[in-house]
Amino acid sequence: MDSSHFLWQTGWYCNGQWHDCDQQYEVNNPANGQLLAKVARCGTQETETAITAAAQAFDLWRKKTAKERGAVLRRWYELMMEHQDALAELMVLEQGKPLAEAKGEVAYAASFLEWFAEEAKRSYGDTIPSPTTENRLWVIKQPVGVVAAITPWNFPIAMLTRKVGPAIAAGCTAVVKASSETPLCANALAVLAEQAGLPAGVLNLVSGDTAAISDALMSSSQVRKLSFTGSTNVGKLLMGKAADTVKKLSLELGGNAPFIVFDDADLDAAVVGAMASKFRNTGQTCVCVNRFFVQDGIYDAFVQKLAQAASALKVADGLTDGAEQGPLINQGALEKVEQHVSDALAKGGKLICGGERHSLGGTFYQPTVIAEANEDMLLAHEETFGPVAACFRFHDEAEVIKRANDTPFGLAAYFYTQDLNRVFRVSEALESGMVGVNAGIISNEVAPFGGVKESGLGREGSRIGLDEFLETKYVNLGQV
Ligand code: NAD
Repeated sequence: MDSSHFLWQTGWYCNGQWHDCDQQYEVNNPANGQLLAKVARCGTQETETAITAAAQAFDLWRKKTAKERGAVLRRWYELMMEHQDALAELMVLEQGKPLAEAKGEVAYAASFLEWFAEEAKRSYGDTIPSPTTENRLWVIKQPVGVVAAITPWNFPIAMLTRKVGPAIAAGCTAVVKASSETPLCANALAVLAEQAGLPAGVLNLVSGDTAAISDALMSSSQVRKLSFTGSTNVGKLLMGKAADTVKKLSLELGGNAPFIVFDDADLDAAVVGAMASKFRNTGQTCVCVNRFFVQDGIYDAFVQKLAQAASALKVADGLTDGAEQGPLINQGALEKVEQHVSDALAKGGKLICGGERHSLGGTFYQPTVIAEANEDMLLAHEETFGPVAACFRFHDEAEVIKRANDTPFGLAAYFYTQDLNRVFRVSEALESGMVGVNAGIISNEVAPFGGVKESGLGREGSRIGLDEFLETKYVNLGQV
């Protein structure tokens, strides 16, 4: 996509208008480091203006019926699907993932708009039998107000719609701060939202000076809710800042997903699931496997098959035909992967394949499999966020559940088995918000996405995802 395309916007979006800033920041293509665009660098003043616009629009937007709001969201969904290819191409340029994956993300992202367009019509209240004869009690659901949404770079389109879809459906208005790595994807969505008929001020976008923007959002008493997706450290920081104005919070944070392969698993299916879960988005997903636990009897065969499949991945610029793994997002990400690999090898890990920067240079890294991983290694405790599959060996079910749960995180967990009793036992014992059983890909718009422990608070998607943007009001009517 070139800069003349109508989805290509480098300004900031407020009250239905695109604006410039005195300062800009650079956005680069992670596959080759080339400058893609200079984007408006917003700070305190722009953020405050955006909050005011959102607060004004809230008075009007909350009064629309759910059906009216749903019609705009539905149109926005249709426009995203009409422009699926262009959005995907932009995402590859800005974020680096292979084109096929980028198209998949656009469809996944759009599905939240479609789902919440319908779901808002079902934000039912309640009537409650009163303990007295004089009174009538009922409960209504109302939008929380202005929402701040802070999103990461790894799913630059889906993380935005997964928040603003339900927010807007519920009757809220939003100020979004997209990651400074991927503002163009966010801006392209705002172009389509406007075309879909979203009124001015309902959606506003700022990016640039992260500290100034987030301080303005967090200190504002008009912002009633923060929905954040990103790392656990930043989530904790924002949780502290939300305390001053007691904002409602949804936090989608980091993970340390275990993927357990029991001796009785279908080996080939487990390898297919492992590949999808580990190497998608070059290993840069919050639900990516971080630790493979493989039972003794199947260990060698699994590691060998996984390494065969990983070595066969086509590593290339995401726009190359048949590309299966793109670059890492930036130099810092590459260095973290290198640090985890060298630490693992120094602590007894056995390199089965990969383990080096890729010959394509830049931030490309070889798909890597390490055997004989152990809990002394950094990669057992932190997200590697890269294409490194670390395989730990285990002996029995009780032991592996203890080891899988031995982490402060609890986002996704996976296991492969053919034993139905084990399916129930292990699903219930794993400390995580989501479990894939004989399934490596688990995210969709109809199911609740989110974590436990330090992986976050709240859920996105599903009918629960709407509640995150609604307040519950109880009314007690005495005699009239
Ligand atoms: P990040 O925490 O660095 O950044 C996320 C967002 O927060 C970005 O918009 C960034 O600009 C902003 N930010 C950074 N520092 C900030 C600060 N001090 N104050 C306020 N805002 C700040 O995370 P990232 O590198 O963009 O994304 C990767 C992380 O996100 C991983 O840990 C991954 O697991 C997590 N993630 C979680 C989910 C989920 O649903 N649980 C989904 C995707 C990504």
